[in-house]
Amino acid sequence: MNILLLGPPGAGKGTQGVMLAERLGLPKFATGDLLRDAVKRQTPLGLEAKAVMEAGHLVSDDIILGVVGDELAKPEAEGGVIFDGVVRTIPQAEGLASILAASGRTLDHVVFFDVPDEEILDRLEKRRSSEGRADDDPAAVKIRLETYRRQTAPVLAWYQDRQTVHHVDGIGAVDQIFERLCQAVGC
Ligand code: AMP
Repeated sequence: MNILLLGPPGAGKGTQGVMLAERLGLPKFATGDLLRDAVKRQTPLGLEAKAVMEAGHLVSDDIILGVVGDELAKPEAEGGVIFDGVVRTIPQAEGLASILAASGRTLDHVVFFDVPDEEILDRLEKRRSSEGRADDDPAAVKIRLETYRRQTAPVLAWYQDRQTVHHVDGIGAVDQIFERLCQAVGC
């Protein structure tokens, strides 16, 4: 079962994605985690992505789709994947659809986490103090939210034109949100 999680930065995709992956016994694929690991290990991908990520901008669609193609070619992805933060632009949505279609796969569920802006800002500020992510500093957060509105928010409409999108209320206790998510995707 392939499940795509959409929503603004700080909407809970990462936290809920881990829980969903565990419940369904599927791998979770988060481009943000993969890129952060590449930056830490100073691989060519990491060296290319570092400055762009720290400033809060998006890594290029070509790089992301290359990484997505590699990930989906792995045997452990055959039974399905939880995609977290992977589709952030319409070209990425189109590219992911083609990569999946080439091996007879589709997205079984698309989930959008609804969280108001004030809550997002509050969560990112807390995450900055607890995790110390460079891209959670106020200047980078501002750019990330603008980038989200300009490039990622239109992806929601792109999916809504093509398939059902489950809207999950992302406010509340983590377990409560997970209940809602599970009801939406059937787990
Ligand atoms: P995240 O952990 O999902 O918030 O991602 C952290 C950063 O990694 C983002 O702000 C982008 O710079 C980069 N990134 C992660 N996923 C993508 C993607 N699908 N497209 C472009 N850039 C991405």
